[in-house]
Amino acid sequence: MNLAGQTAIVTGGSRGIGRAICKALAKQGARVGFCHADDPKAVDTLAEISALSEGFSFACDVSSETEVAAFFASSEQALGLPTILVNNAGILKESPLTKTAVLDFDRVIAVNLRGAFLASRAFVRSSKSGRIIFIASDLGVLGREGMVAYCASKGAIISMTRCLAHEFAPDILVNAVAPGSIATDMTSPDSMSPEALAKDLATPLARFGEPEEIASMVSYLAGPDSKFITGQCFGVNGGSVMQ
Ligand code: NAP
Repeated sequence: MNLAGQTAIVTGGSRGIGRAICKALAKQGARVGFCHADDPKAVDTLAEISALSEGFSFACDVSSETEVAAFFASSEQALGLPTILVNNAGILKESPLTKTAVLDFDRVIAVNLRGAFLASRAFVRSSKSGRIIFIASDLGVLGREGMVAYCASKGAIISMTRCLAHEFAPDILVNAVAPGSIATDMTSPDSMSPEALAKDLATPLARFGEPEEIASMVSYLAGPDSKFITGQCFGVNGGSVMQ
């Protein structure tokens, strides 16, 4: 129970990687408040967290300043001041550059990047110590055709990690986890082209990762054993990026 007495906020916690993160943090004893867009699966996720620790869920759009403020205020009222923030909410839209509408580009940047900015700002305005963990992507380093907004947003997340690590040291440690391809709705055949999925498997480990494999790295970065680590981006990616 490395995180007993801590309160975590996780954006996009209803399913996929965010859900695994919520459960891993709750298993370590943290109280966990998460937000989600509008998925009914949030009810089941909240029940699973509540079986492990105290939980709270809130429907909001992370790209909205007022909705993020409402999420933080309600979570604080329910669970207390947060000590851990995990910026996980994200969306991906695949399309070649010439067919990418401005609105679609803006939406991906708004959720993936502005959302992380808004949640981080809300966190540091109230919490004076703790951890911020961003969920970036190996594609933020590698880039990929047909994913300009997504890759640009994730590259910027890695940069934002370093900015905040400088700005809030030594009180708040700020790191990122950059997953490779993980088996979630985002990598289902409904969301990604067969070409992109084939590229996802072209790594040394030649498989999709599991959400829990990301969650265990997040747990480590949230816990007491990582207190000399800040400004880093950890690849959990089956070898897609080697640094
Ligand atoms: P996912 O299964 O599609 O889940 C996305 C989560 O984000 C859901 O909880 C969703 O809520 C929430 N969300 C989406 N838009 C939101 C918004 N505007 N406001 C609030 N919440 C919102 O995705 P995932 O695969 O778990 O991805 C999680 C993170 O990991 C993302 O940042 C993604 O870019 C990153 N990542 C994923 C992979 C991968 O291969 N899966 C690889 C690298 C990085 P609802 O359920 O309500 O829609």
